[in-house]
Amino acid sequence: MKNSEAIKLNNAAKPAVADLMKTLGTDSTGLTEDQAGQRLEKYGPNTIQTAKQRSEILIFIENFTSLMAILLWVSGIVAMIAGMPELGIAIWAVNVINGCFSYWQQHAAQKATDSLKKMLPSYVKVTRGAKIKQIRVEELVPGDLFKIQAGDSIPADARVFKCSSLQVDESSLTGESLPVEKTDEYKQGDGEFAQQNIVFAGTTVTSGTADGIAFATGMKTEFGRIAKLAQGQKQTVYPLERELNHLTRQLTIIALLIGIAFFLLAIFFVHYPIAKSFIFALGMIVAFIPEGLLPTVTLSLAQGTQRMAKRHALLKNLSSVETLGQTTVVCSDKTGTLTQNQMTINHLWLAAKDYDVTGTGYFTNGQIQVDDRPVELTQEPDLSQLLRIATLNNDTEVDEGTGEEKAKILGTSTEASLVILSRKAGIDVKTENRTYPRLKELPFDSNRKLMSTITKNQTGQVIIDTKGALSSELLICDRILDNGIVRPLTDADKQHIMAVNEKYAKQGLRSLAFSYREVDQDDPLIHVSLDNFQIGNAETHMIFVGLAIMSDPPRPEIFDAVKKCRRARIRIIMVTGDSPITAKSIAVRIGITSDKASVITGDQLDNMSDDALRQAVKGEVIFARVAPEHKFRIVSMCQKNGEIVASTGDGVNDAPALKRADIGIAMGVTGTDVAKDAADMILTDDNFASIVSAIEEGRTVYSNLQKFLLYILNSNMPEAAPSVVFLLTRGLVPLPLTVMQILTVDLGTDLLPALGLGIEKSEPGIMNQPPRPQDSHLLNKSIIWKAFGLYGLIASIISTGAYFFVNHENGWPNISLASSGVGYAEATTMTLAAIVFCQIAAAMNCRTQISSVFSVGLFSNRRIWLGIGVEIGLIALLMYVPFLQTVFNTGPLNIIEWGFLFCIPVPLFLLEEGRKWLLRRYSTRHSNDPS
Ligand code: ATP
Repeated sequence: MKNSEAIKLNNAAKPAVADLMKTLGTDSTGLTEDQAGQRLEKYGPNTIQTAKQRSEILIFIENFTSLMAILLWVSGIVAMIAGMPELGIAIWAVNVINGCFSYWQQHAAQKATDSLKKMLPSYVKVTRGAKIKQIRVEELVPGDLFKIQAGDSIPADARVFKCSSLQVDESSLTGESLPVEKTDEYKQGDGEFAQQNIVFAGTTVTSGTADGIAFATGMKTEFGRIAKLAQGQKQTVYPLERELNHLTRQLTIIALLIGIAFFLLAIFFVHYPIAKSFIFALGMIVAFIPEGLLPTVTLSLAQGTQRMAKRHALLKNLSSVETLGQTTVVCSDKTGTLTQNQMTINHLWLAAKDYDVTGTGYFTNGQIQVDDRPVELTQEPDLSQLLRIATLNNDTEVDEGTGEEKAKILGTSTEASLVILSRKAGIDVKTENRTYPRLKELPFDSNRKLMSTITKNQTGQVIIDTKGALSSELLICDRILDNGIVRPLTDADKQHIMAVNEKYAKQGLRSLAFSYREVDQDDPLIHVSLDNFQIGNAETHMIFVGLAIMSDPPRPEIFDAVKKCRRARIRIIMVTGDSPITAKSIAVRIGITSDKASVITGDQLDNMSDDALRQAVKGEVIFARVAPEHKFRIVSMCQKNGEIVASTGDGVNDAPALKRADIGIAMGVTGTDVAKDAADMILTDDNFASIVSAIEEGRTVYSNLQKFLLYILNSNMPEAAPSVVFLLTRGLVPLPLTVMQILTVDLGTDLLPALGLGIEKSEPGIMNQPPRPQDSHLLNKSIIWKAFGLYGLIASIISTGAYFFVNHENGWPNISLASSGVGYAEATTMTLAAIVFCQIAAAMNCRTQISSVFSVGLFSNRRIWLGIGVEIGLIALLMYVPFLQTVFNTGPLNIIEWGFLFCIPVPLFLLEEGRKWLLRRYSTRHSNDPS
């Protein structure tokens, strides 16, 4: 390539294709791999860097400027002014540790989300060294020849040199939402991007197919130029984050009010000095502000999305985790999602004969076994015609692989099955394509459910070949090929063909119909221009040839997934382009519906009112022979019924429904770029069972957040109780827990077990419950009751009791309560340690909501046990390291006191196990589990 940098828009648009190829150093066989490698080094990967990253330093600093952090900074200063420098330094140290921990959590969450983005590479079909290959979009270089079709993102700025009905959505560049037509001819329209034979990176193909030569990649493309100018992207705030922000704000206000009240009471009621009262009130504020809530939640969500990714579901943003758990209806495609997408042709039906082509050896060396004797294919004119159409009307390449290797399919599995059929019949696909060069294609689209190709044979005869859904074919055929003779297609023929089709459809088999027509030499269509061949005038007066019947068995894991959905009260609505009978047969077989389900076709849907459709989607229903546009209406009507809808899709026309659904799910393997862009979640294995796993994971993550919230809130009560005792007794009972000790519980010992709760496995039976109601909140009544009324209250009684227990050991009530010295340090240490040991029980109790902890495995969550171990280690350090003793006003405990502490968690744990057992008994009696 001489001066590729100079290839600007007009230089690429104007010259003849051959000249442009020369300038770009390529020809019709494409670049060689060596050339491509050198160019990749020279021009860099074909990627666009959009948003400017927020500076790491700024993110780090933000963790030290929250309201909570500012309060602690100020308190440190007050402590120093009041002559308590150790306290001041310790408060600051705790603040620094807390900030660093939050930053680490943010960082880990970001890393987890970034790694997800890398898991879904995009591919493009290129011609290199005269071979068609699939490469990653980043590897595309200037001079590469590539192919695009409906639903693809255009990978580079390129000159179109071959195209068929190409329409492109350029809204990302121009803002214009209507698709624009592109051709391979030069025409300059108005505006910056108006060259008709140029397609731009970052735009998408809405229909048609094309071949292009890339002349600019990555940041050199027009899209890259604009992206470079664009400022940093706005950060989106997801609903759960909003709820948490709201919750944190509310709790902070409550904490501040309590703090002010305690401050005033300490001054006026207990007559405490102002500085000491301030520090005392600070203890209350620290106890109640849920510091660390947001970063821990974000981390836990990010880890949840990573777990989902391992189960083949990639979430594009964290908020979808929450919605997933609320899903009540899944609108699912059939082919490839519920079924394996491995098409095998079993039968070929032709007017004169019905061929069973299952098993090997049916075709050998161009001969076919008819009535157990080999017959030359040429003696079977109808079959030869069908095989010719199946070979030519096909855009798929199959690399069959060797031995254990799986066949690689470049295209669709429906067409792949036809390629394999042709090969079995001894047809050389390449030779056939040379004999009948393709003039034009009318690509398949799921609205008309047909695909046509126009070819010319060696005598110059122009032929139109069509394949597609039987219902669509019967509309365009008026003749039939019967034993080599073309005769009119009668109503009786149609009835017969439909009956044959129905027989196979009832067995869950799919069908594809074939037709053709030779264009008359004097047909004006061929004399003017190929552009005249359009869907309306080309696909008409066709000769019906026959049917290919193929099987596509259900995925083996689908049966369990469907049962799980039933138990979880999630309804599945099959929405398929396939025939009603095939659809129903598969739906009944895999247990989605009963035999009584109603089947509504696209045509019927068009004539249904919104009300009727709303009614229909409440019951057992299947939608068949529908177009993707219908899906949008089905999803909308379900939503109007109050459902939370997840919907699958793969094609370009599925995008509106994917956007409309509460969770749009695109197929990662067979899905188009447009569908992936519109979706919230991408399935890396296209498998319905992965949706169910993701829902389960979504429910788990949400319930883990609640467990985590319960855990951190429940320590507020025992932390606050000592101060209340102090106030109520007007200081007669010295503070049983000092401010520094409150800080240790809240910012130190509590954090690690809380993190462990974020990764707790799904609780047994989580998929036996109905979906969470839409108006439910993370912090619900049950959590508030448990945090403050149950766990919190018990822990307050135990920890305050522990304080009096030590004092009693030291001679109280005969001598008054110690308010300083060794005795006081020992007593407050005991309160602190008792809170920590109550928290150990709480960590265990919070692991499940209703199931026994033994059912999830007492030791199954190692992070919790690690957290508990560290927690006990920290408390021991506080007791025995002299320096820490001074800072935290702690002292060593004796063996009896340690014994007392170790006795705390066991009864608390067993009591809660008993309560959960009662709850389980109660709920089994009152539930009506549908399974
Ligand atoms: P689902 O909607 O569940 O994925 P589907 O693959 O059958 O099922 P569409 O892709 O909309 O749905 O296809 C509709 C019909 O069009 C098919 O049932 C088949 O008869 C026909 N068809 C599918 N692929 C092609 C193709 N490449 N060329 C021609 N006709 C096709």
